[in-house]
Amino acid sequence: MYADLHLHTHYSDGTYTPEELAERGRERGIKVMSLTDHDTIDGCKQMAVACDDRNIEFISGCEFTVELEGFELHLLGYFLDLECARLIEQLEKYQAVRQNRIHEMVFKLNELGFKITSDDVLDIANCNSPGRPHIGRVMVAKGYCRSLDESFQKYLKKGKPAWVPKSKMTASQAINLIHEAGGLSVIAHPGLYHRDDVISPLVVAGLDGIECFYTRHSTPMTEHYLMLAEQHALLVTGGSDCHGDNKGQPLIGGVKLPYAYVEKMKLAVST
Ligand code: AMP
Ligand code: ZN
Ligand code: FE
Ligand code: FE
Repeated sequence: MYADLHLHTHYSDGTYTPEELAERGRERGIKVMSLTDHDTIDGCKQMAVACDDRNIEFISGCEFTVELEGFELHLLGYFLDLECARLIEQLEKYQAVRQNRIHEMVFKLNELGFKITSDDVLDIANCNSPGRPHIGRVMVAKGYCRSLDESFQKYLKKGKPAWVPKSKMTASQAINLIHEAGGLSVIAHPGLYHRDDVISPLVVAGLDGIECFYTRHSTPMTEHYLMLAEQHALLVTGGSDCHGDNKGQPLIGGVKLPYAYVEKMKLAVST
């Protein structure tokens, strides 16, 4: 029995519907799935039904964009109470930040001479939690870039001409919020940051786990984070970070988290 606990749908910057995602997971033999869209839980109830219809265990989730001393990182929340009023209120606040940022970045692209409108982006995004990939898709659709990656490399990445900063929760606010919603907090894809020094302060703030198994983690990297998880007595999670088919082959099921780790998560959330 395997799990994939890091997945996106069109409720943020993925391309699949919950049903399409659950179906891809079923085809690949995944028995447990979590939906972890960026700063939103909007797709979770639909995904719960889609999983239930396919005999797949569903874990509610969200990927929170946070900052720790000015550094941006992603925290995954699992087993969240989807009715938690404070969680809903905080997510809505940061979704508004995302929507405003689309206007600001489109303004910069207009100054650079590109004829794109916020509505182009918000129409393609069609969700409450739009992000830079939606801007990139419009740049590609209009022929201004050959690929999503090119749009990031030339314009959208931090430091590039259309980039604007985005206000974020602090890591400790996000961890407290996840706990208030009854969930577990996990640092997402630590191997991508080259900043293992963030782990200790996160542990002090109440971090519950490390995403050790991840598409872009090499085997030595995975082993390194398994060791750190053991050292800090943290849970181990894993997932593919599938965004649908906008980045080539769908990644779902490419990372297989053994069910024993899911059982440990369940034990931790119930105590
Ligand atoms: P945002 O949420 O607006 O800050 O955009 C960040 C998201 O863009 C990440 O979570 C990734 O899913 C995606 N992303 C980052 N870099 C790239 C890239 N080079 N090509 C395509 N997507 C990217
Ligand atoms: Zn994403
Ligand atoms: Fe991420
Ligand atoms: Fe992700």
